[in-house]
Amino acid sequence: MTLRLDDIHVSFGNVRAVAGVSLTLGAGDRMGIIGPNGSGKSTLINAISGIVRATGAIAVDGHRLRSGSARTAARRGVGRTYQTPQTFTKLTLIENVMLGVPTAERRGGTGSAWWRPRERRRTAEALDVLVTVGLDDLAEQPAAILTYGQQQRLALARALATRPRVLLLDEPAAGLNSAETQALGETLRAVNAGGVALLLVEHKMDFVSALCPRVAVLAGGRLVADGPPGDVLSRPDVIDAYLGVPHA
Ligand code: ADP
Ligand code: MG
Repeated sequence: MTLRLDDIHVSFGNVRAVAGVSLTLGAGDRMGIIGPNGSGKSTLINAISGIVRATGAIAVDGHRLRSGSARTAARRGVGRTYQTPQTFTKLTLIENVMLGVPTAERRGGTGSAWWRPRERRRTAEALDVLVTVGLDDLAEQPAAILTYGQQQRLALARALATRPRVLLLDEPAAGLNSAETQALGETLRAVNAGGVALLLVEHKMDFVSALCPRVAVLAGGRLVADGPPGDVLSRPDVIDAYLGVPHA
């Protein structure tokens, strides 16, 4: 899997949210994107996942994604989570996850003989994903009972159920305590080791530095740095961009 962004721009009226971002992400990569509030991080994820329209080229394995088409992005293996976890509180965890598991193509009614084994397979796949995020014990419970940290895990499970090849995460550690953050890091490493590339927007520097061998910095919609976290986070211009104050 290769995700390639070439000169991506997104504007909302006069606001240039993303202003000429180019980057390439490979199959085994874990890349962090940091930057101050309003620097375009969520908008970049929205552009890649087809939630907002963008100019420039976004391609997965050389296949150009249609701007603003979430369906095209999903079909090419782009999965994502949102800054606020998206879960259905009245549904059980397994039902939440099954909404993401690709449905078997319709060849008969839901009562026909072929359907049942496939439904069982979908259920088994959904349960596997709940095991991955450590929520399988709660599979039959309604999502309403979950803590915030568990909701984040369920949202991750829902994204994994789409079998992404590249997973875009929008501040996955926000609102998590340190034990939950640590556990999330371990889960994401395991997901990545299974061949899923990670592009992770995050505020928690320690978390990003520990998880991502490569970190990019967005400021005012532009990438101002891209490299190993130790190098990037010590650059004076990055510190300026991040803190929004002149470097002494
Ligand atoms: P970040 O995630 O880095 O905090 P965002 O991508 O959410 O930043 O926002 C970047 C800029 O684009 C901000 O100025 C924000 O107000 C603006 N913006 C984001 N989404 C929209 C939208 N749907 N409509 C109008 N302006 C938006
Ligand atoms: Mg954001």
